[in-house]
Amino acid sequence: MKKRGISRRKFLIGSAVGGASLAASSYLNFDAWAANEKASENVKVTPTLCDGCGNWCAIKVYTRGDRVWKAEGIPIAGNNLGRVCAKGHALLHEVYNKDRVKSPLKRVGPNKFEPISWEQAYKEIGAKLQSIKETNGPESLFLLQYPEGNADLCQRFMNALGSPNVFSHASTCFLPRNIGWWVTTGSAKPEHDLAHSRFVVFLGRNIGAGLRLRQLCDLSKAKDRGAHFVTIDPRFSEVAAFSHDWVRIKPGTDLALMLALANVLIQENLYQKDYVNQYTEGFTEWAEQTKQYTTEWAEQKTGVPKEIIRKLAHNLAEAAPRAFIHRGYHGALGTQYKNSFQLVRAVACVNGLLGNFNQRGGMYDPPKVKLGKLDPQKFPKTPELEGPMVDGSGDPDRYPITPMGLGITHAIPELAIVGKLKAGFVYHNNPLRTCPNPARVIEGYKKLDLLVSFDYVLSETASLSHYILPESYYLERDDVVHTNHCYDSHQVAIRQAVIKPLYDTKPMVVILTELAKHVGIGNYFNFTLEEYNRAALAPLGVTLERLKKEGVIDLGGKWEPGPPHFKTPSGKLEFVSSTLKDLNLPAMPEWEEPLVEPDQKNPHSFRLIHGKQAHHTHARTINQEYLKEITLLNDMTRVWIHPDRAKQLGIKDGDCMTISNEVGKGRARAMLTEGIHRDCVFLPSGYGVYSRNLKTAFGFGLSYNDFLPTYFDPMLGHCMSNEIVVRIEKTPA
Ligand code: SF4
Repeated sequence: MKKRGISRRKFLIGSAVGGASLAASSYLNFDAWAANEKASENVKVTPTLCDGCGNWCAIKVYTRGDRVWKAEGIPIAGNNLGRVCAKGHALLHEVYNKDRVKSPLKRVGPNKFEPISWEQAYKEIGAKLQSIKETNGPESLFLLQYPEGNADLCQRFMNALGSPNVFSHASTCFLPRNIGWWVTTGSAKPEHDLAHSRFVVFLGRNIGAGLRLRQLCDLSKAKDRGAHFVTIDPRFSEVAAFSHDWVRIKPGTDLALMLALANVLIQENLYQKDYVNQYTEGFTEWAEQTKQYTTEWAEQKTGVPKEIIRKLAHNLAEAAPRAFIHRGYHGALGTQYKNSFQLVRAVACVNGLLGNFNQRGGMYDPPKVKLGKLDPQKFPKTPELEGPMVDGSGDPDRYPITPMGLGITHAIPELAIVGKLKAGFVYHNNPLRTCPNPARVIEGYKKLDLLVSFDYVLSETASLSHYILPESYYLERDDVVHTNHCYDSHQVAIRQAVIKPLYDTKPMVVILTELAKHVGIGNYFNFTLEEYNRAALAPLGVTLERLKKEGVIDLGGKWEPGPPHFKTPSGKLEFVSSTLKDLNLPAMPEWEEPLVEPDQKNPHSFRLIHGKQAHHTHARTINQEYLKEITLLNDMTRVWIHPDRAKQLGIKDGDCMTISNEVGKGRARAMLTEGIHRDCVFLPSGYGVYSRNLKTAFGFGLSYNDFLPTYFDPMLGHCMSNEIVVRIEKTPA
């Protein structure tokens, strides 16, 4: 196995990212404030939930007088164990950002807005929406959201309107990962008993930047107990720096490595036989299928020597069942490649061979807390919509396993261009920046007769919208109760207002309720948020008052290892997926080439890959000035390139490079590092903001979406965001 050739110190200096340890205190000078704390009698502490990323960490926010001061983590919260990351600290200050939208706005010209009253906004939007619905049918309406928090209320709103078209960002983020795990194990997002593991493989998964604070805590515990970590990634990521070994794999070939691991585990009788016999389905076919995927074959595909692949299989087998391949996210197992879905299936199957599901130090289906519902006698239920969605999600003949309610986000502009979508709402999302091929996305969204954004700043999407209805910032509002804190426990948590709204903004539940009245569906929104939350808590025996006081409540009972139960049709882990077989889709993981390849004979040709930095959640945090300071201080918008390839092109560290392909062209400075595979360059995500209304972030860095063609994976529809080939050249002086 290749030992990493870069010292951790050097790497950290190069990237200046240390995961959860990267506190923002040196930037925010909390120490100076802390000295005054005792002198102040106006300090109030309110528990709530951070909104900096999908983790929803539970925090206590301190205010002094009416001003937000600082945050601390809530120690019992299962997903952050009392930790807060740099983003969590810095985003407190966004409530005072000068770029905030201060009242409802109506667009009256290109990038020209006029403040209007809420009543005028509701009336005009309601009338326009009803007219579009009558003329084009409810299926011409859509809502795109980040699928957290108030997602159920948004779904209710669209159900009441009669439209099945509720989208999330899944097709540009996690779609294959969730569906692959779900068809194999019945759990879309299995968790890891990382703290008790002995051997862990991070396959393109970088929990040091795509932060999971709980997992970072558990990683430390496991390391203290002597666990061994291997990172397989074309790039020397933050988690690679923490790992014992880094395997520099050719991008897009992780699937070949997984298939070869299965081959070794089976052919050398290293798999957990009793477990496989008892708890899996289709082993004989899977064993036959993987015979062809030898280590020699995989070496050709991946560039990883066959001895290393074999050693990896042996190491995993020796530590099993306290060993796993991490369930993954970006890097390889998200929406990155044409073969990402096959890859996720293969990862789940290799974990099956290790017999680690529901075992100590292995993986498990996290316990779910079942919340109560509004009483349908008093609060009418909306019609259930069967679908399929307008993009083909849920359609047996198009994307049968792409779930309704997630959809294919980057199909929206295409559907608007051909007139199938006429009006839309965008909530907690910015598709004009987060979807591929910006020119095409803008063209599509411009075709809509009505576009309404619920946002607190004028993002690219909000700037193009006909109306902007500003939701109160997360520190200014109450939301629905939340159960994302579980990991191995049962917990419930709540987001609540820490301060009064600074401007004329409203919580989402109020906006939806008022809009509903103006489009004739008010009868489905005849409840208050308090009633909704009390109904949700009723089966748990927890009062809203207690939850608001404590922020997070542990309901007792923990995940415990034991015989696994898989929520698949067979009740077993399915090497041969019955769901896929029934749909005539490949039922077993098989090798599939990536969609594109750089031209090996052309020194200018590279694959462009991308990933998060620990102090940003893609474009969501990019307009925050303290976080920008971290980027500036550490020169972090540079594009990583291998020194050997750079030398061929006459590029030195810090030189300006031109990056181009058929979709876009841009300039970035080079960071020469051996921590990147020779075939690719790495662009950090989130930069490249082009809304002039985001003054901190505007015109700063590049986005990979500027180079990504509009692709739809044939099976799931995801965007295949690492299937980019670019030309790199030194920018002439
Ligand atoms: S990981 Fe950081 S940004 Fe995300 S919710 Fe937790 S504290 Fe907030």
